[in-house]
Order: sequence, then structure tokens, then C-alpha cells
Amino acid sequence: MAETEKAGKKIWIGVAILVIGTALTWYFVPWLWASVLIPSAKAVGRFGAAIGQHLTSSVTVSWWSLWILIVLSAVVLLQVAAFFRRQMTAADRDSPQGLHREDFRTLNYEGIRWIWKYSFSGEVLDIVALCPVCSYQLDLKHDARPNPHTMIGLTDVTIYWCDHCNVVKAQLDGNQKAITVRVHKEVLRLFNSGEWEEVVRQQMTARSQNNPQP
Ligand SMILES: [Zn+2]
Repeated sequence: MAETEKAGKKIWIGVAILVIGTALTWYFVPWLWASVLIPSAKAVGRFGAAIGQHLTSSVTVSWWSLWILIVLSAVVLLQVAAFFRRQMTAADRDSPQGLHREDFRTLNYEGIRWIWKYSFSGEVLDIVALCPVCSYQLDLKHDARPNPHTMIGLTDVTIYWCDHCNVVKAQLDGNQKAITVRVHKEVLRLFNSGEWEEVVRQQMTARSQNNPQP
């Protein structure tokens, strides 16, 4: 019984909405037509006519300014053409197994999961340290410890802390800049040796098995 009562209520609400909606439409549509739609249509028409007039009118410019425009357009066109050519050749070069260079955007290295972006021209940018367990962005703390080789003076250490796991994830030799350079060089090494494809394949397998990434 409760179900049919509910259904009945729904029907009544639907009918009420329909009646109110029809009444509102009845009163509002003529008003809307006269005071909004027709003036807007007229305004759009006038605007279009003005644009047409503007575009078909002519203007006198000196040749030097025209040449600047021509050269700039040529530069932009060449850039666009070069971009598409690069994309096409990159696709050819990078996908013997259907992999693209830009599929490689994360790497576990020295106990940390690093991620990065690529610039328009394919350079590695914005290397960021993530927790290898929970992927939270790690906090960095600069520290120093006695130089293990000379036992004189201090050597830079960077501590990577995960605020999500509440654990120090790594203590790496060097300051943040030196470590970022190291990671960047490792990424380039993987590219140059061709090992990046194997790394990406392992990451894809791990992701499909829902395991932590290699
Ligand atoms: Zn974590």
C-alpha cells in the first residue's frame, strides 16, 4: 500500500508542476517574446550588420606595418607546422610498442616516487617528490651531517617527510637542487638507454594489477 501511496503522491506532484508550469508559460511566453527575444534578435542582427560593414570596408596602412604582420603570421605558421611535424615524428619514433615518450612521467628512484611534466617541446619539467606508498607530496627539510669521507666539515642532506604516513621516507645526500638534478639526469639516462620503455611497461602492469609501482 505504501508503495502505491508514494506513487500516487508522485503523480499529484507531477500534475501540479505541469499545471503551474503551463500557467507560467502561458503568461510568460508572450511577455518574454515581446520584451526579450525580439529586441535581442534585433540587436544581434544590427551587430552582425555592423560587423559585416566593418569587414567589407577598407583601410589604408603603410607597407612597413603590413610587412610586420606578414612576417609575424609566417613565423606563427612555421611554428605550428613544426609543432605538428614534431608530434608526428615523435609518435613514429616513440611507439614501436605503442608507447609514447610522454607516457613516462613517474619513476621510483632512491626510495622516492618522482613525478614530472613535459614542456611544449618535450623537456622534463617540475620534478616533484611523492611518497612511494600513498603518493602524498613529500615535505623537504634541509639538514647537514659530518662529511663521511673527510670527517671535517658538513655535507648537505635533504630529508623527505610524508605528512600522510607520518614517516621520514628518505634522507638523500645533497641539497634539493642537487637531488633534482640527479633525478633529472636519471630520467635522461633512461631515455637515452631506451630503458624507459621497460619502466613504463612495468608501471602499466603494476597499475593494471593494482599493485604499488616498480
Ligand atoms: Zn605517505
